[in-house]
Amino acid sequence: MMSNAISQNVVHLPPPGEDDSHLNSTIFARAALLGIEDLHFKSDSVTGLKAIVAIHNTSRGPALGGTRCLNYDSEHDAIDDVIRLARSMSYKSAFADLPYGGGKAVLMRPQQLQNPDAYFESYGEFVNTFHGRFITAVDVGTSVEDMDKIARKTSHVLSTSSSRGDPSHDTARGVLRGIQAAVKAHLKHDDLEGITVAIQGVGKVGSYLAQLLHEQGAELIISDMNQQAAQDCAGCFDAVIVPVDKIMSISCDVLAPCALGASINSRTVHLIKAKIVCGAANNQLATDHIGDKLYQKQILFVPDYVVNAGGLIHVVLASHAEAQTKVSEIYDAVIDLYQRSEKNNEPSHRVANRIAEQILYRSKKHVAHL
Ligand code: NAD
Repeated sequence: MMSNAISQNVVHLPPPGEDDSHLNSTIFARAALLGIEDLHFKSDSVTGLKAIVAIHNTSRGPALGGTRCLNYDSEHDAIDDVIRLARSMSYKSAFADLPYGGGKAVLMRPQQLQNPDAYFESYGEFVNTFHGRFITAVDVGTSVEDMDKIARKTSHVLSTSSSRGDPSHDTARGVLRGIQAAVKAHLKHDDLEGITVAIQGVGKVGSYLAQLLHEQGAELIISDMNQQAAQDCAGCFDAVIVPVDKIMSISCDVLAPCALGASINSRTVHLIKAKIVCGAANNQLATDHIGDKLYQKQILFVPDYVVNAGGLIHVVLASHAEAQTKVSEIYDAVIDLYQRSEKNNEPSHRVANRIAEQILYRSKKHVAHL
């Protein structure tokens, strides 16, 4: 159920709504707001490479983050995506207690990718200029084969075919653990038998998640822009397919966004009927204010960086057994987060952000004293 190497998806960030006005601010202002350490660009007219690397925080270790290769509507959208994703990576590593910081790379995919070997090798040379301060891996629109091409030019790349390979299965396992914990805490159900889960996007992670949920007895509703991916998934796991524009408003227990970011925004937040939102996609909330609206609707939002850390754990931990244990512990992290949120009467995403920021602050202070 692996998806193709380079996705044709175009990233459409939501239009600024009443809560999203800061999206109109300058790139420098946005980067400062999110605490980005630095931004790097490489443009290569021979291969068509337009690469942006954002490094958010290196106080816990080298900035680790995947390489995303997509069509973007504008450079502004690409930069906005990469800085938001880089911050999530810092939070993810901090929450999973891994000795890494957060970074991310975005490649603005050309209309025609003439020579993928030269393209990814040129990008590999760019990654190598960071001398290990930035380490990359697979993400949306890139594959293990692409990582192999990058690895010809740099050793600072994970998830190659000769290392730990595709992390998507462990990402899906972590999301499953998150859903199990959220269902237990919020719906008081001990298992997923008969629980309805709507999955937006059945690519690498979404299709594995569908398989795991099916094995647990969950009822599945799915949607994907790629009709073939949706049909394959539906055939294997008894899922009902709904149109892409219907999945957010479907009646279900759990909505699992597993496509692209900002799917919960000022246009969609009012449509959601699920009792829980828990999925793999990075940066599901367009803004924190949108998360507050979910909370007001008594919908439990489980922050993506808490539950989608399985892929990161997969690529950095050499021992399979150790990785499995750590992925399983995502269950406990979600229960703990839920309890803190209940105790403080505060939305879970705000509690999680604060915990992550505190961890990063302590690490920064520790580094400053060395
Ligand atoms: P993928 O490209 O394999 O799958 C994404 C799927 O979503 C594709 O099948 C695509 O057609 C579909 N899609 C895109 N827009 C859609 C829309 N509006 N409605 C319905 N379907 C849509 O990517 P992936 O590796 O499965 O990752 C999915 C998400 O999980 C991404 O946000 C990624 O950043 C995040 N994530 C992935 C991993 C990992 O290990 N792969 C780890 C952490 C986070």
